[in-house]
Order: sequence, then C-alpha cells, then structure tokens
Amino acid sequence: MNNKSKGKELKEKLLMQRGNGAASVSGDVLKASDDYCQAYMRFLDQGKTERECVRYAVTQAKRSGFVPFDPDHAYPPGSKIYVNNRDKAAALAVVGKKSIREGIRIVAAHIDSPRLDLKPCPLFEKNDLAFFKTHYYGGIKKYQWTALPLALHGRIIKKDGSVLDLRIGEEAGEPQFCVTDLLPHLAGEQMAKTMAKGIRGEDLNILIGSRPFRDEPESQESDLVKLNIMNWLYEKHNLVEADFVSAELELVPAFKAAHIGFDQSMIGAYGQDDRVCAYPALTAILEREAPEHTILAVWADKEEIGSNGSTGMQSAWISQMVEQLAELEQTRAHRVWANSRCLSADVSPAFDPTYHSVFEPGNSCFLNRGVVITKYTGSAGKSNTSDASAEFVGEIRALLDQSEILWQTGELGKVDAGGGGTIAKFIANLNVDVVDIGAPVLSMHAPFEVVSKLDVYMMHKAALAFFGS
Ligand code: MN
Ligand code: MN
Repeated sequence: MNNKSKGKELKEKLLMQRGNGAASVSGDVLKASDDYCQAYMRFLDQGKTERECVRYAVTQAKRSGFVPFDPDHAYPPGSKIYVNNRDKAAALAVVGKKSIREGIRIVAAHIDSPRLDLKPCPLFEKNDLAFFKTHYYGGIKKYQWTALPLALHGRIIKKDGSVLDLRIGEEAGEPQFCVTDLLPHLAGEQMAKTMAKGIRGEDLNILIGSRPFRDEPESQESDLVKLNIMNWLYEKHNLVEADFVSAELELVPAFKAAHIGFDQSMIGAYGQDDRVCAYPALTAILEREAPEHTILAVWADKEEIGSNGSTGMQSAWISQMVEQLAELEQTRAHRVWANSRCLSADVSPAFDPTYHSVFEPGNSCFLNRGVVITKYTGSAGKSNTSDASAEFVGEIRALLDQSEILWQTGELGKVDAGGGGTIAKFIANLNVDVVDIGAPVLSMHAPFEVVSKLDVYMMHKAALAFFGS
C-alpha cells in the first residue's frame, strides 16, 4: 500500500533532492569519514607550507612504490612515477593499461595557502622591540592576522649554498610569534576605518624579541635588541642577516587542526583551501593500482597569487611531463591533452547563515552535502573562468551518482557579490575538459577554516571514482 501523496511522488521524481547528507548516509559511511579524517588532520599539522606538503607527498609516494620520473626510461602499465618540482609542487602518475593517446585522468589541487611571507630584509628594531617585516601572500583579511600565535616555516639558502629548513613554533616549548593589535580603549580612530583599512599591509610586523644584547656598560651601540636576535640566530643556526635575502620564510598559524562541534563533525584548521582537496587527490592515487587510463594527481603551488612562476599551473612543468610521457609512447602531447579529462580540485565557499546576504541559497553549497560541482567561477559576468561544458558536467554527475558519492552544486556567491578563480582555466586552455570539484569551506582564507568530515571523505571517493578502476 502506497501512502505517498501524488505530490510527494512527483516531487521525488522531478525535483532535486537536497539535504544534510549526514542524515541520509549509513552509519558506516560516517564512521569511514571520521576515520579518514584522523589521518587528514595529521597531514594538516605536518603540511602547513607548500614545501612541507611536497615533502609529505614524496614520502608517501616512495612508500607506495612511486619512483622519480626519468624521461629516458620506459614505463609499462602499472608503473608509479612522481615529479618533484623544486620542492614546491609535485605530480604523481600511475601509467594506465590503455595507451596514453587515449588521454589521462587528472585531479589537480593546490598546496599554497594565504599567509605572511618575510620581506627580503625583514629584521628591524623600534623602541626596544625587534620585528620582522612581512609581505602578505594571497587574499587575506588583514585584521584576522593580528593577535594570533604564529609559527615560522621555510627555507634559507646560506652564502655557502647550504640549506636550512626552519619550523619554529609548532612543538611545545618552542618560541612563537605574533602581530600586535591596538587595545580597544585607544582604537577609536582605527575602529572608525573600514575593515579593509583598519590594519594595513605595512602594519603586519612580527614581534620577535625584546631583550638587548648585553654590551659593555659604557657601550653607545643602538639596535641591540635586533642584534641580540641576530646573535641568537647565528649561535643556533649559523645565520647572518644577509641570509634572509635568499630565503622563503612564511608565518602561518601555530595552532593544530581541531575537531569542531560537540558532535566533532567538522574540522577547523589553517590551510584547508586547498589541502582539503590536495590530500584526497593523493590518497586516491596512492590507492589506485593499474588503472585503465594513465592517472595524474597534481599538487600545484602559487594558485593563491595567480598560478604564476615555475611551480604554478601556468608554468610548463606539467605539460612537459605529459609531453615526455607521450614521447615514450611515440605520440604527441597535444593528442594526449585532447582526450584527457580533469577535476580541478578546489574548495567552494559554503553557505554561511550568518552572512547569508552574499549567497544565493538555491545555487550555494552547504556543509555535509558532499562534493561541490562548480561549473564556472570568475567574476563580473563569468570573466576569467573556463566554464565546464554541459557534456563534461553530465559525465561527472553520472559518475558521482553511480559511485554513491554525495554531491551538490556551487557558485562563488551572488552574481555581483565578487568572485574568484581556480586553476581550472589553465588546464582547460591545454584543450582538456575540466570542471571544479571540491569541498565546501566556512571562513575560507581565514587563519582557521572549517570543513565537514563527511565532505572530505566524499572528496576522496570522488577522486578515486574519477581515476577509475
Ligand atoms: Mn583554492
Ligand atoms: Mn584560495
């Protein structure tokens, strides 16, 4: 006996079913999500910079039998190879059973995140306090970076060419750093400014010391606090001030990834744009043995500042890798690209009820509803986006349904509210079908971004399904 009304029946048949996936999936799926995210959270704590992420990927790749790609070597189906691009970007591939002429399946994410970079001459002293000058990287709301514990990560190349990797402020007992802010009692003028202007780029100075070098009592030397810091760095790491010139040092939030909510259904952490997609791309390719098509997981750098430079997606490094793979099978790269497909794995802004006015609810993505298909990004009338084809979105939609993966659609906010972009267009420009797929994120680009564990796991399943069997 069917006690559904005709209206209800028709609704189920004709209208999209939307709703909290955590209510519809089985308990096993929720358990699998929580388990999967334990390792994801450990990764977030280990990989707070692009260099640390590449180190993580290469370690995992080697452990799973991947070897450095050598274009003079032949690779039979099932071969696992990787390219480490300058320790800042990486690509892993598994050679497919089919000829590479039939195209490759790419999942591409980025591993750089907004942060504060040190300037080339960062060290200064003012009124008995020592600071580092910074130049912020990527789109930040500057006020969010004040009064927050920060850790210093990065690499320094000394004059003799030796390499020093620093990671200070992550372990208990290690020093941490911060940008100071003004007390509310004296902030009348600051608070009257717009949020964009309340804190300026040049105000993002990092507090690094307050005790002067203890010189002889009759000393007239100035800048002894700065000297004391440099002396500490010299004694501990053999550094001199000029070494900052040949360095990439980044200040990132010092806190660890945390379970969010009484139900622990979410994760709060730094840098989840786009490590929440990079990590599933990696776990998926590590899991896939002997795929039909050659599969490629890309971890790109520099997305947050336009994908420029040798490690960004506008660089030729990925197309050169594919060209070399094509040559090994006596074919041309353009033939490979023409038959290839790509998921541009990047995050989407989740609908936030507190800031609902910038979202159009019917086309926004929500936490716990699974991976987000974003057909186009861009701004002001779809400018600067690749806009995936109906055909390719159709393919992906069918694949996700077949694989029982929760999915939804998303758009980057209301039409005239702003906008942005991803690496999708750079891969699409190679004559590849590309669509953006990622996890929804609350507080995107803040030092502490929030995702749902179920969505992270769905991203892993989506990458796995796309790579095929
Ligand atoms: Mn992103
Ligand atoms: Mn971003």
